[in-house]
Amino acid sequence: MSDSPVTSTIDFDRPGKQVGRLRVPRSTNESGWSSLFIPAVCVANGAGPTVLVTGGVHGDEPEGQVAALNLAREVQPAAVRGRLIILPCMSPDASRAYTRLWPSGANLNRSFPGSPSGPPDEQLADYLTRILFPLSDAVCDIHSGGRSTMHLPWSEMHMVENRAQRAAMVDAMLAWGTDYHFVYINIAGGGLLVDEAERQGKIVIGTELGGGGHVTAGIHRLTKDGLRNFLRHLGVLAGTVETRASRGLPEAVILKALEMRDYNLAPESGLFETTVELGEQVERGQVVGRLHFIESPERAPADVHAGSAGIVCGVRAIASTLQGDCVAVVGQRCSRAELV
Ligand SMILES: [Zn+2]
Repeated sequence: MSDSPVTSTIDFDRPGKQVGRLRVPRSTNESGWSSLFIPAVCVANGAGPTVLVTGGVHGDEPEGQVAALNLAREVQPAAVRGRLIILPCMSPDASRAYTRLWPSGANLNRSFPGSPSGPPDEQLADYLTRILFPLSDAVCDIHSGGRSTMHLPWSEMHMVENRAQRAAMVDAMLAWGTDYHFVYINIAGGGLLVDEAERQGKIVIGTELGGGGHVTAGIHRLTKDGLRNFLRHLGVLAGTVETRASRGLPEAVILKALEMRDYNLAPESGLFETTVELGEQVERGQVVGRLHFIESPERAPADVHAGSAGIVCGVRAIASTLQGDCVAVVGQRCSRAELV
């Protein structure tokens, strides 16, 4: 792809394990002639699917970065059938700063499909769009709630229109083995990494594995095991999938939040007090939280009412809240049959 300014030290056609980087040219106040390095690992071994794993698209979400780094370090060609491409940290400067967005203000997960002549985030997005997605059969983009949100840990997907693609995505989503799975809509803009990979017909799975600015040992284990089971399910990683049944666990709960009313937005700015717990069943109209007004001690807090009934699956983790911020997400149980 001669017109992409992004280059790679990895030859994606070469068998074996390669550890290298993508290089995105940039010029900053501190360094006029610089490059942004995106770590990359490719492990290829014979015939089989190509699967792309991305972590750290948002810098304050370490779960995927840690799991992808562990996988990238440990996996050897003998355990791979096909090709595994791992980009453990897509936004290194944001990861160092522990921020969602790049220092430039760019949200890499709004930069797709990208452009070879745009700013660095769009150039990187364009490289995935035109080079790495076309090589791939499946894409897994590992996210969490970051600092601002806490989610029930889950793997997730969009309701793509193509039935065969959707059915394959449902099974790949379930292979993660999390207690919950989530089917969602974009409520905060388009241009997601998964949007473009889905448009290209790939099996595309995302995750929201907790959040709130910290990661428990349990979440790290879940991310590590879930990612490997997902890769085993696709056949790119040797070994059998550890199903929930084989681990003595009940069937997972699939939640869908496909209406805007499932995403409760703050009606005005204030200090948010959540009144519901993750996993709690709520009725439509039930108070899910209250906004307090630090400048008006005499003023009663403003209640936020659930726009729909269901299970609370996401709550705002930062109390200081601006009008329009999502403070609670409510999902409805659905069956696998409803999705395929
Ligand atoms: Zn994210």
